[in-house]
Amino acid sequence: MSFSELGLSPKVLEAVSAAGYTTATAIQAGAIPHALQRKDVLGLAQTGSGKTAAFVLPMLSMLEKGRARARMPRTLILEPTRELAAQVEESFATLGKNHNLSVALLIGGVSFDPQAAKIDRGADVVIATPGRLLDHFERGRLLMTGIEMLVIDEADRMLDMGFIPDIERICKLLPFTRQTMFFSATMPPEIQRITEQFLHNPVRVETAKRSSTAETITQMLVKTPHDAKLKRETLRQLLRTQTNVKNGIVFANRKTTVALLEKSLKTHGFNAGALHGDMDQSARLKMLNAFRANEVTYLIASDVAARGLDIPEVSHVFNFDVPIHAEDYVHRIGRTGRAGREGQAFTMVTKEETKYLKAIEGLIKKEIPWFDNGLPAHIEPVQEAEATPAPKPRRAAARKEKPQRDLQPEGESKPITEKPRRSAEPPAGRSHDRGSRDTPPMLPDAPNDNSFHDGNMPAFLMRK
Ligand code: AMP
Repeated sequence: MSFSELGLSPKVLEAVSAAGYTTATAIQAGAIPHALQRKDVLGLAQTGSGKTAAFVLPMLSMLEKGRARARMPRTLILEPTRELAAQVEESFATLGKNHNLSVALLIGGVSFDPQAAKIDRGADVVIATPGRLLDHFERGRLLMTGIEMLVIDEADRMLDMGFIPDIERICKLLPFTRQTMFFSATMPPEIQRITEQFLHNPVRVETAKRSSTAETITQMLVKTPHDAKLKRETLRQLLRTQTNVKNGIVFANRKTTVALLEKSLKTHGFNAGALHGDMDQSARLKMLNAFRANEVTYLIASDVAARGLDIPEVSHVFNFDVPIHAEDYVHRIGRTGRAGREGQAFTMVTKEETKYLKAIEGLIKKEIPWFDNGLPAHIEPVQEAEATPAPKPRRAAARKEKPQRDLQPEGESKPITEKPRRSAEPPAGRSHDRGSRDTPPMLPDAPNDNSFHDGNMPAFLMRK
């Protein structure tokens, strides 16, 4: 659907077209006309669906009338993490370029005073993480009685992070007459309860569920030996077959693997950078910006470190490990093929990982084809230039090479996020869920065997 059919103002339409958006995504087409009629919207959509513009655009149209008053913001957007909040601010800069609005970003980890000064001068839009917003409120720097529109974004992640009590408190501080737009990728019972409590006759807009993958993504499986060194070689061979990589994310299940892969790929001349849980926020943002600017071609990342980051236009996703939780597969490959663009997603699979693969295929309800049953035979192996001597085929490698012991769970349950304020402990019954999503279970030690599914080494890995 074209944006001009949605009822947006000319100023908004001009910015949309300047941003290069031609057709509205499903969540935009479904939500924007209702939002413009001041109805509450319940959007079931995930990152990558274009949901940010689904609330930013009607908000911009609405803000064209009226003015901000000191300490009384007119609209409020709640985000679970600082990074998401910063990304929404960027969207305002792009899509609101014709609007001359004052946007205040209230996130933790930076000083209060400049934020407070901005609210003092009058903010049209406040984009905040729940904790920092309440801190400003409690210090008396902010009045919530002027809020006309509230957006709660990524509600299920708010739940994961223990923010629901803060959200409930904030909702009670806002005028009853406000409009609410509420977005969540999933609808667990606690989120359902919140929507029943705080939305008034919402229009429900549902886009593709997490269990489905975009049609624009070509998915492929690649056989690989379990042995860590050979597995890295398989990855390199795979990367070399893909001549049209604009930029790619290589996902690994553990942060130790992420660090090792970055080192290994760089040694072999790939332009790679890493994003993992041991990096502090500024290092992560620096890496992410380098990736966005195409200074880094391959971003090696773990699920936790990458969650929620908006990295537009990724051409390829490579899963170095099959994700242990099937849902993570959908998240990972959802980094490509966004907003109708073409994308390629390759998943390397060892014999031991086929059980996880089955779960993924069950979730997405389709079989993923094999990439030429391994890699094309014409690809010649390259010499492994790492410290340990290159393995000889099969038996020698099996005898001499110790299995890679990077099998600790990632244990980085805290990406660049806000801490829940009062509710340090997530509500009962969720800590397990959270742990199981963020922390892969311990895997058994790698068997000292280089077998493929059929027990044979593919030709391209055989050394002469
Ligand atoms: P989001 O789901 O809001 O994080 O958006 C995902 C990406 O899609 C962002 O990089 C947006 O800039 C982009 N995007 C959003 N809407 C559109 C659209 N209608 N056409 C093209 N790209 C879009």
